Amino acid sequence: MELKLYNTLTRKKEEFKPLEGNEARIYSCGPTVYNYAHIGNLRTYVFMDVLRRVLKYNGYTTRHAMNITDVGHLVSDADQGEDKMMKTAKEQKKTPWEIAAYYTEVFFNDIAALNIEKPEIVPKATEHIKEMIEFVQGLIEKGYGYETSDGIYFDIGKFEDYGKLSRIDLEAQMAGARVEVNEEKRHPADFAIWKKAPKEHIMQWPSPWGMGYPGWHIECSAMGRKYLGDVFDIHTGGVDHIPVHHENEIAQSEALLGKPAVKTWMHGEFLLVDNGKMSKSLGNTYTIEDLKKKGFEPLVFRYFCLNAHYRNKLNFTWDGLQSAQVSLSRLMEGVLAHKNGSDQVEDEVVSGFRKEFQEAINDDLNIPKALGIVWNIVRYPKKSKQLFELLLETDSILGLGMADAESKKADETDVGSEVEGLIEKRQQARKEKNWKEADNIRDQLKEMGIILEDTPQGVRWKKA
Ligand code: AMP
Ligand code: ZN
Repeated sequence: MELKLYNTLTRKKEEFKPLEGNEARIYSCGPTVYNYAHIGNLRTYVFMDVLRRVLKYNGYTTRHAMNITDVGHLVSDADQGEDKMMKTAKEQKKTPWEIAAYYTEVFFNDIAALNIEKPEIVPKATEHIKEMIEFVQGLIEKGYGYETSDGIYFDIGKFEDYGKLSRIDLEAQMAGARVEVNEEKRHPADFAIWKKAPKEHIMQWPSPWGMGYPGWHIECSAMGRKYLGDVFDIHTGGVDHIPVHHENEIAQSEALLGKPAVKTWMHGEFLLVDNGKMSKSLGNTYTIEDLKKKGFEPLVFRYFCLNAHYRNKLNFTWDGLQSAQVSLSRLMEGVLAHKNGSDQVEDEVVSGFRKEFQEAINDDLNIPKALGIVWNIVRYPKKSKQLFELLLETDSILGLGMADAESKKADETDVGSEVEGLIEKRQQARKEKNWKEADNIRDQLKEMGIILEDTPQGVRWKKA
């Protein structure tokens, strides 16, 4: 069956065929490890994971690289401000290396908790300085890189196709934008591929241009090329990467190679919180830990994500997560009913469901539709082992852990909804200044082994 994927570059769904043999070579922009990943970041990695799983389901092997950005990503994507790693290091009085090691480990724990498969190759930017310097040298030799007093810049004026991914009219955009004045840049959108380091900059390496550090965009071009070859199949990231980061990656790679490095560009849409942007000031950049503190298993968040197509925005609310929890729990009960069922179903029923499921996932990863079909299987009146096997097959894409549905059905998740319900009641009692009732509920929760914590973001709870 044909697998179709939407290519941001051509704005079309295209049939996927590996460039070489049976292997899909994929590059995903990985995390900048200066902080905990928030649930928005994690939605993008759930999308990346579903893509991997669909490719494998279709019989391809994957050579998948996801970088760890541990240097070079400045506070603004368009190379302004401080290095994010250094900023956190200063705030926490640690070295950038300690910061990177800590948040990288937490990131891998988070993605494991979400059943996101770890890509085969996970290169760190700081371990590929040599490759990046060579890349920059290559660009200078070809006339695309020029030196200024603070670094080496990419000359976008020389790259005719600049802006083809986002189809931006750069001149119009620049005319209206407030861009930093850097007299030495030939065009305001020229971007740093190498930065010369001031003495106090902790992360710096020797280069032909003195001590310095790489620009953020160059790492993906250099590491993608090293691990996947000059030209590879798919590149993923979040939609925010389209206008700057990926536009710059395209410019660098194509300038050096004389041809496009990536066949298909795929982008995951944003997760919103309460219909708005997540931001530290609003206190809504939730992490997996925040979800757990409220009693939600990480896989509930995975299930929540699977309900929206990756190219649509998804709005996160606690109520929405609560509904996902209830649905997931019911789904697992349904899976168990088939596992323990002894009815016989006709082969055509099984193959019919399978075909519908395959059509959905192969239509540009239409997981919400595929999930609907999974629900139809679950609700099928006859309960049978054959359908249980089919459900396990669908779970190779969904990754919800149906194989151990027993442990996932009621207990854990029901505790969650019961606790949330009681907390709600207690909040109401407090609003009505009914302190006695509020205290009673707190005691009741205590008996259930639940400890409450009042925070500026609301009440959180954990198991004692
Ligand atoms: P970063 O660690 O900042 O480089 O971001 C990691 C990934 O998360 C990138 O692919 C971003 O595009 C993506 N991302 C950032 N914010 C969101 C969001 N609100 N929703 C979905 N993806 C996001
Ligand atoms: Zn990247």
